[in-house]
Amino acid sequence: MIVFDLKCANGHIFEAWFKNGAAFDEQKEQGRLQCPVCGSSSVEKAISTIKVKKGGAKGDGVVSQAAVAQLVHAFYKKVVETSEDVGTRFAAEALKMHYGVAEPRSIRGVATKEEEEMLKDEGVEFFRIPVPSKKEEGSH
Ligand SMILES: [Zn+2]
Repeated sequence: MIVFDLKCANGHIFEAWFKNGAAFDEQKEQGRLQCPVCGSSSVEKAISTIKVKKGGAKGDGVVSQAAVAQLVHAFYKKVVETSEDVGTRFAAEALKMHYGVAEPRSIRGVATKEEEEMLKDEGVEFFRIPVPSKKEEGSH
Protein backbone atom coordinates (compact mmCIF):
# COMPACT_ATOMS: atom_id res chain seq x y z
CA MET A 1 0.00 0.00 0.00
CA ILE A 2 1.16 3.52 -0.78
CA VAL A 3 -0.43 6.82 0.10
CA PHE A 4 -0.69 9.91 -2.06
CA ASP A 5 -1.57 13.41 -1.03
CA LEU A 6 -4.38 14.36 -3.35
CA LYS A 7 -5.79 17.75 -4.18
CA CYS A 8 -9.22 18.46 -5.57
CA ALA A 9 -10.22 21.26 -7.95
CA ASN A 10 -11.25 23.37 -4.94
CA GLY A 11 -7.87 23.06 -3.30
CA HIS A 12 -8.73 20.56 -0.59
CA ILE A 13 -5.84 18.30 0.23
CA PHE A 14 -6.41 14.80 1.52
CA GLU A 15 -4.62 11.47 1.74
CA ALA A 16 -5.71 8.33 -0.04
CA TRP A 17 -4.31 4.83 0.03
CA PHE A 18 -3.69 2.83 -3.10
CA LYS A 19 -2.47 -0.65 -3.82
CA ASN A 20 0.11 0.88 -6.16
CA GLY A 21 0.65 3.82 -8.46
CA ALA A 22 -1.40 2.28 -11.23
CA ALA A 23 -4.40 1.94 -8.92
CA PHE A 24 -4.51 5.72 -8.59
CA ASP A 25 -4.71 6.22 -12.35
CA GLU A 26 -7.31 3.49 -12.64
CA GLN A 27 -9.58 4.90 -9.95
CA LYS A 28 -9.15 8.41 -11.28
CA GLU A 29 -10.14 7.31 -14.77
CA GLN A 30 -13.21 5.57 -13.43
CA GLY A 31 -14.16 8.72 -11.51
CA ARG A 32 -14.05 6.86 -8.22
CA LEU A 33 -11.76 9.37 -6.58
CA GLN A 34 -13.71 11.98 -4.67
CA CYS A 35 -12.71 14.78 -2.39
CA PRO A 36 -14.02 13.94 1.08
CA VAL A 37 -14.71 17.61 1.71
CA CYS A 38 -16.61 18.77 -1.36
CA GLY A 39 -17.15 15.57 -3.28
CA SER A 40 -15.35 16.79 -6.38
CA SER A 41 -14.02 14.01 -8.57
CA SER A 42 -11.56 16.38 -10.18
CA VAL A 43 -8.58 15.12 -8.21
CA GLU A 44 -4.86 15.29 -8.82
CA LYS A 45 -1.79 14.13 -6.96
CA ALA A 46 -0.85 17.14 -4.86
CA ILE A 47 2.74 16.57 -3.87
CA SER A 48 5.16 13.82 -4.64
CA THR A 49 5.13 12.66 -1.04
CA ILE A 50 4.90 8.92 -1.11
CA LYS A 51 4.55 6.98 2.09
CA VAL A 52 4.54 3.26 2.38
CA LYS A 53 2.18 1.59 4.77
CA LYS A 54 3.97 -0.43 7.38
CA GLY A 55 2.77 -3.96 7.74
CA GLY A 56 2.51 -5.64 11.11
CA ALA A 57 4.81 -8.49 10.27
CA LYS A 58 8.54 -8.06 10.47
CA GLY A 59 10.14 -8.09 7.08
CA ASP A 60 13.70 -8.69 6.01
CA GLY A 61 16.09 -5.78 6.17
CA VAL A 62 16.53 -4.23 2.80
CA VAL A 63 18.92 -1.71 1.27
CA SER A 64 18.93 -0.05 -2.08
CA GLN A 65 21.32 -1.18 -4.77
CA ALA A 66 23.15 2.13 -4.50
CA ALA A 67 23.84 1.46 -0.83
CA VAL A 68 25.31 -1.94 -1.64
CA ALA A 69 27.42 -0.51 -4.43
CA GLN A 70 28.73 2.13 -2.05
CA LEU A 71 29.55 -0.48 0.56
CA VAL A 72 31.30 -2.72 -1.94
CA HIS A 73 33.27 0.26 -3.17
CA ALA A 74 34.33 1.25 0.36
CA PHE A 75 35.14 -2.36 1.19
CA TYR A 76 37.21 -2.82 -1.92
CA LYS A 77 39.06 0.44 -1.30
CA LYS A 78 39.90 -0.76 2.22
CA VAL A 79 41.06 -4.12 0.87
CA VAL A 80 43.26 -2.38 -1.67
CA GLU A 81 44.75 -0.18 1.05
CA THR A 82 45.49 -2.99 3.45
CA SER A 83 46.51 -5.88 1.25
CA GLU A 84 49.26 -6.75 -1.17
CA ASP A 85 48.28 -7.27 -4.77
CA VAL A 86 49.81 -10.53 -5.90
CA GLY A 87 47.77 -10.66 -9.08
CA THR A 88 47.63 -14.03 -10.75
CA ARG A 89 50.05 -15.47 -8.18
CA PHE A 90 47.24 -15.43 -5.59
CA ALA A 91 46.77 -19.19 -5.47
CA ALA A 92 50.50 -19.84 -5.17
CA GLU A 93 50.99 -17.20 -2.47
CA ALA A 94 47.94 -18.38 -0.52
CA LEU A 95 49.30 -21.92 -0.59
CA LYS A 96 52.76 -20.80 0.53
CA MET A 97 51.22 -19.04 3.53
CA HIS A 98 48.99 -22.01 4.19
CA TYR A 99 52.04 -24.26 4.46
CA GLY A 100 54.06 -21.70 6.40
CA VAL A 101 56.56 -21.13 3.58
CA ALA A 102 55.66 -17.46 3.35
CA GLU A 103 54.84 -14.86 6.00
CA PRO A 104 51.11 -14.71 6.72
CA ARG A 105 49.81 -11.44 5.33
CA SER A 106 46.82 -9.91 3.63
CA ILE A 107 46.93 -10.54 -0.06
CA ARG A 108 44.55 -10.06 -2.89
CA GLY A 109 44.65 -11.10 -6.48
CA VAL A 110 42.84 -13.08 -9.07
CA ALA A 111 42.25 -16.79 -9.24
CA THR A 112 40.85 -19.06 -11.88
CA LYS A 113 38.04 -21.48 -11.12
CA GLU A 114 40.57 -24.34 -11.09
CA GLU A 115 42.81 -22.50 -8.65
CA GLU A 116 39.86 -21.77 -6.39
CA GLU A 117 38.89 -25.43 -6.37
CA MET A 118 42.46 -26.42 -5.57
CA LEU A 119 42.65 -23.92 -2.70
CA LYS A 120 39.37 -25.20 -1.30
CA ASP A 121 40.67 -28.76 -1.51
CA GLU A 122 43.77 -27.67 0.40
CA GLY A 123 41.61 -26.05 3.08
CA VAL A 124 42.74 -22.52 2.29
CA GLU A 125 40.16 -19.97 3.26
CA PHE A 126 39.56 -17.00 1.03
CA PHE A 127 36.75 -14.76 -0.07
CA ARG A 128 35.60 -13.87 -3.48
CA ILE A 129 34.76 -10.17 -3.75
CA PRO A 130 33.00 -8.26 -6.47
CA VAL A 131 35.33 -5.77 -8.11
CA PRO A 132 33.73 -2.39 -8.77
CA SER A 133 33.65 -1.36 -12.38
CA LYS A 134 36.42 0.97 -13.49
CA LYS A 135 33.83 3.37 -14.88
CA GLU A 136 33.27 4.83 -11.42
CA GLU A 137 36.88 6.01 -11.29
CA GLY A 138 36.06 8.72 -13.79
CA SER A 139 38.57 7.73 -16.44
CA HIS A 140 36.72 8.32 -19.66
ZN1 LIG B 1 -12.58 19.38 -2.34
